[in-house]
Amino acid sequence: MPLIIVTGLPTSGKTTRARQLYDYLSARLGTQQAQQQQQQQQTPSPSPNPNSNPKPPYRLHFISDSTLSISRTVYDLSPAALPAHVRSANASEKDARAAVYGAVKRVLSPRDIVVLDGLNYIKGWRYQLYCEAKNVRTPSCVLQIGAGVERARAVNEARLSARGKRAREEKEDGPSRVSKEEDGKNENAPQQQEQQQTQPQKIEEGASSHSQKANDHSGDDRDNIDDDEEPYEPSNWENLVFRYEEPNPMTRWDSPLFTLIWEDDEAQTRAVFDKIWDAVAGEGRKVVKPNQSAVQRDKDPGGDYLYVLERETQDIVKRILERQPDEGGGEVTLPRVNNNPAGSGEGSDLVVELPGKKVGLPQLQRYRRAFVALNRGGIGLEAVGKLAAERLRESFVGYLNDAFEKDG
Ligand code: ADP
Ligand code: MG
Repeated sequence: MPLIIVTGLPTSGKTTRARQLYDYLSARLGTQQAQQQQQQQQTPSPSPNPNSNPKPPYRLHFISDSTLSISRTVYDLSPAALPAHVRSANASEKDARAAVYGAVKRVLSPRDIVVLDGLNYIKGWRYQLYCEAKNVRTPSCVLQIGAGVERARAVNEARLSARGKRAREEKEDGPSRVSKEEDGKNENAPQQQEQQQTQPQKIEEGASSHSQKANDHSGDDRDNIDDDEEPYEPSNWENLVFRYEEPNPMTRWDSPLFTLIWEDDEAQTRAVFDKIWDAVAGEGRKVVKPNQSAVQRDKDPGGDYLYVLERETQDIVKRILERQPDEGGGEVTLPRVNNNPAGSGEGSDLVVELPGKKVGLPQLQRYRRAFVALNRGGIGLEAVGKLAAERLRESFVGYLNDAFEKDG
């Protein structure tokens, strides 16, 4: 597939299920490969034909914040959690998303199955991933992990107190113990044991020899799966629950939508995984035509999205160059809607805060191109026409403000 986007509230059991799914897929791929090999042996072709195995085996990948060393703090919007030099509260989260996007893009193909474990809570972000899969002609689906807010909160609280306890122990026991336990990256044996005990039973297909085979062709990503025991700060956790955008199976990008809840037992879990397998690699796998969404967008009243993206960002660059004061610095006010003189647009104006030095065309074009590249897949594109243009302008101005702030 195939891209399997796992989503759910913080500490709701996403990683647990994602790992189960990874193990399940790994075992099924092993079985599939063994069957193919058997068939080949039973029907020896007269001449060795390189096309006798028409489909190369699937490769399996596991991507998550922890495999990319992304900390929980990137989601923290509370002012106290921000380093002094960071102005935009969600800049670190944007960087994290870019890293995840890059990691998915690097491996995703019709023969690479990616299990993307994470919050994946923004619908525009899920839309972007869906477009990316479509671009490489591979299906995508969403696996929602359902757990009650209270239960998920309790998990985070338990992790917070475990962290507090560890910190106290380290303090008391002095540096020798500390060096053994370091930080969360190199989790040590006792913690892993504990995790295996608390983790619900693994769902596996077939005998373990299959898993071994499956591992052979699934790359070594499984080794990269780190422990995800790091808690969220309470305010960060609450805020993420508040910001969570439920998947909607009526939309293209959130479907097919599969759901597992905390209480689902092994049989139910397996039934859902079977369905996912079917959508990803089995009979139910759809033929994906790339760029259909772009074609559809052509018919939108506002015109082609990429064209609008170019037009609006060009317009903003042009206006900044025209209006910035010669001595640099200060602000430039831009209309929210193209072709309107500043001040007469609908809603308030957009404000670009310029850096100390005057900005030149090359610098602005560089930012513009980076922004265009980031948003080519579209984000929040349910908005069409004028609304899409307005959102793009607003988002590009936000991007420039962040960039100028970083430049100092
Ligand atoms: P997330 O990835 O959403 O932060 P985790 O998968 O790390 O959540 O799960 C949090 C904790 O809850 C872990 O200790 C895990 O063992 C436990 N857990 C998760 N799902 C279940 C479940 N379905 N049944 C029992 N315990 C679970
Ligand atoms: Mg997790």
